[in-house]
Parts: sequence; C-alpha cells; structure tokens
Amino acid sequence: VTVGPSNVARIRLQLRAKLPEKKLSGRVYFALLNFYLLSGIALCLFLTSEISWQESLTVPATFLYANLAEYWAHRGPMHRPVPLLNLIFRGHTLQHHLFFTHDSMECDERADFRFLLLPPYMVLFFTFVFIVPLGIALYFIFSANVAYLYAATAAAYYLNYEAMHALYHLPESHWLTRVPLVRALRISHRRHHDHRFMTHCNFNITYPIGDVLFGTRYSPSRALKGGAS
Ligand SMILES: [Zn+2]
Ligand SMILES: [Zn+2]
Repeated sequence: VTVGPSNVARIRLQLRAKLPEKKLSGRVYFALLNFYLLSGIALCLFLTSEISWQESLTVPATFLYANLAEYWAHRGPMHRPVPLLNLIFRGHTLQHHLFFTHDSMECDERADFRFLLLPPYMVLFFTFVFIVPLGIALYFIFSANVAYLYAATAAAYYLNYEAMHALYHLPESHWLTRVPLVRALRISHRRHHDHRFMTHCNFNITYPIGDVLFGTRYSPSRALKGGAS
C-alpha cells in the first residue's frame, strides 16, 4: 500500500466514517487503563515478600521477553494476516498505518485517539492470555515472588508501550518531544510509518532491542534493499 501525503486527509475521513466514534473517549480510556494496570502492579508488589537477588532477575528477564514479544507481534500478526488474529492486522496495518503516515503522524482531533491506542480488548487479551497463565506456571515452577514480579513487570511494559507510542504521535510542538530519548524513538517510529519500510524496518515500538538482535533496525542501505512494498 502506498499513500501520498495528499491522500491522507481523504483516507482519514473514510476511516472515521467507517469506525464510528467510540462512546468512551480516548482520554477516559487511557485513565482507566492506567488505573487498571497500576492497581495490578501495586497489588503484585504488595504480595511479594523478602525477594532474593535471584528472584529479582525476573524483572530484566520479563522486560526482555516483553520486548521480543512486542517485536514479533509487530513483525508478525500486526503486519501479516494470520488466521484468528486478523483483527490485529486490520487494526494496525489497515487502520493505524493508513491513518498515520510518516508525513502525517499527528492526530487532528481528540476523537482520533481511537486510531492511536490499542483497542480495549487487547489489554484483556494480554491479561488472560499472557499474564495469568504464565504467572500461574511461574508460581508453581519457581515461587510466588517470581510470579508477582513477572506480572508487575509485564503490566508496566504494556503501559509503557501505550504511553511511548502515544508520544510518537504527539504534535512536534509538544515539550515532551524535546526529551532526547523520545526524539530519537519518534524518528525511528516515523520511519516505520513510511509505507516503503513498514514491513521490514523498526518493529520495536519501545526500545529497539529486537530490531538490533534480528537486524531490522533502519539503515539507508537496508531501506534501499527492502524497496517499496
Ligand atoms: Zn504508530
Ligand atoms: Zn506497524
């Protein structure tokens, strides 16, 4: 799919018409998401006790696991139709990437947050498919501390994903865009939104660990090799 800058306004109108405005505003949803995940994190941390140094390694291990899960989910079902996960492909490639292109990364209005944030069912999917089953397994295989630290880190990662992705689609004039890390990651995500590169470069939304490990970090030579798709 290739979309020129002049087409974006027309495509946005079509997408807005196709996806009727949600009853829940993006801001309210983001506040509820924070409340849900932060309460979960607080509860998990409250339930831990006398964490050993070996158990504390659960935090970096979960962070790395979450980063690679983000990478493969984005490189896989978010950009390639996979049976049963078509909804994810539609929401990401056919809505988010058509609504926001590398030369039109900002929302026009608050109602456009619905094209920016992951749909609410994703946090439930994430809770009951990723956090709870693996948390239970870790509880029985290792310890309660490992299970709670895993759940707390995974929930924090989800929140971090949503917040950082929202930062990349803020207007250029926003003060947060002047933070050096945000600035660098915004450039990286903008490149991913270029339709010529979106299926082969910059799949990490947060920190580019997966992209470095699997050689998909944007570089001019890689971009040329990939060509327009
Ligand atoms: Zn984006
Ligand atoms: Zn993408």
